[in-house]
Amino acid sequence: MMSKERAEQIFATTGALLEGHFLLSSGRHSNRYIQCASVLQYPCYTEELAEELASRFRNDNVEVVIGPAMGGIIVAYEVARKLGVKGMFCERENGEMKLRRGFTVVPGQRVLVVEDVITTGGSVREVIQVVREEGGAVIGVAALVDRSGGKVDFGVRTESVLVVDIETFEPDNCPLCKAGKIPLVKPGSRY
Ligand SMILES: [Zn+2]
Repeated sequence: MMSKERAEQIFATTGALLEGHFLLSSGRHSNRYIQCASVLQYPCYTEELAEELASRFRNDNVEVVIGPAMGGIIVAYEVARKLGVKGMFCERENGEMKLRRGFTVVPGQRVLVVEDVITTGGSVREVIQVVREEGGAVIGVAALVDRSGGKVDFGVRTESVLVVDIETFEPDNCPLCKAGKIPLVKPGSRY
């Protein structure tokens, strides 16, 4: 199993795990931020992380790997390659998560749902629902990062390479704002 140190090293080296003072899309502030795209731009690191996730489900007879677009596409592809099975993705059409482009799940098929970062788990839940509506069997969830600190529960086995508990603050009650030393940045604009 990959050590926590090695996982943290990969995320830190690639700039995927940022330390500072961040304005989140929720409006809250935090002192850490995960930008998984920074890892996924490096095929060698992506492969190493995907192998770690694949190894945890190698004895589960996974037949299909599916992730939600955008973040889950590369992870699904790479984990599928490691398991020697098909990789697909779900995407939104008029706000609703769907399998498109001719992707299909056969009733009874054993599906592993993957994601880059799990925060509240909303997208993963929607993919699970799509798979079950097609008659597929969700045998687990695999994510590169669990940002919920291990609190999210999908009702199936969930594995992640890195579990991070990121503390967030109301803007009015943010210790970083109070300290006034680190300027607030909006991730995505600069990174
Ligand atoms: Zn702040």
